[in-house]
Amino acid sequence: MRIGIDLGGTKIEALAMDEQGKELARYRVDTPRDDYDGTVAAMAGLVHLLEEKTGRTGSVGAGIPGSISEKSGLVKNANSTWLNGRPLDKDLSAALGREVRIANDANCLAVSEATDGAAAGKRVVFGVILGTGCGGGVAIDGRVHAGPNGTGGEWGHNPLPWPNAEENPGPLCYCGKRGCLEMWVSGTGLARDYQQTTGRQRSAREIIAAFEAGEREAAAIVDRLEDRLARGLATVINTLDPDAFVLGGGLSLAQHLYESLPKRLPTYVFGREVDTPILQARFGDSSGVRGAAWLWPVSRERSTFSA
Ligand SMILES: [Zn+2]
Repeated sequence: MRIGIDLGGTKIEALAMDEQGKELARYRVDTPRDDYDGTVAAMAGLVHLLEEKTGRTGSVGAGIPGSISEKSGLVKNANSTWLNGRPLDKDLSAALGREVRIANDANCLAVSEATDGAAAGKRVVFGVILGTGCGGGVAIDGRVHAGPNGTGGEWGHNPLPWPNAEENPGPLCYCGKRGCLEMWVSGTGLARDYQQTTGRQRSAREIIAAFEAGEREAAAIVDRLEDRLARGLATVINTLDPDAFVLGGGLSLAQHLYESLPKRLPTYVFGREVDTPILQARFGDSSGVRGAAWLWPVSRERSTFSA
């Protein structure tokens, strides 16, 4: 049995699944915010609950909104800031008495969707979480590619490519730089653009709904979002040329993206030829927790990946 844990800023979700990826049990609890020891205890508690419920023991993987530094062994880049500077994998391993694997949550999305989701069997998958912020992750042959700095896929903190005069230098990002893609291509960026254009405050979900209902102001803002996302994805194609993109997070539910992006990409991709599929995450919100469970190697019969 495999157990996956998705550590989010507000909820911790854990799922047990069998060798075929069939869900056996699932629990979720509120995240003990600003309480590191409480977070480790909550994660371990969910594993114990799943093992009691199923009567089996499992391998444990966890997706976190950050990464573990190869150099220091400590969490870095987590927007759940109470995790930063802590050896979460070691502490969770100690609490559970077994080895635990930890990866960035966007990498978990990519692994989940490459294993048995929308991009099943694709060799190189680039996952994008378009939520409050924007995260990227890379799976190669169904395994995380984090890289020696743990920053593989951290595309959201590259600058918005080909900025026009109004987009330059761009808003200040929490990472300390200006104009990061995350500041533009995210629910937060969409809501900021709407507020600055119309003077009205609306959530990303409301803006997408207004766009789908035919509101002109919302259409102009969604048009800009799609163009910026196309520019961002074009640089991924020009760098990595993945076999597929998979989009997750709240904004990935906007169906217009899947018509619009393939038409926009050739404008920006070198050579102007683009056949890369852009897919909606099959498992939606569950991709993170499923990908965490799949962090343990796929068994031999499942490991056939093709371009
Ligand atoms: Zn940034």
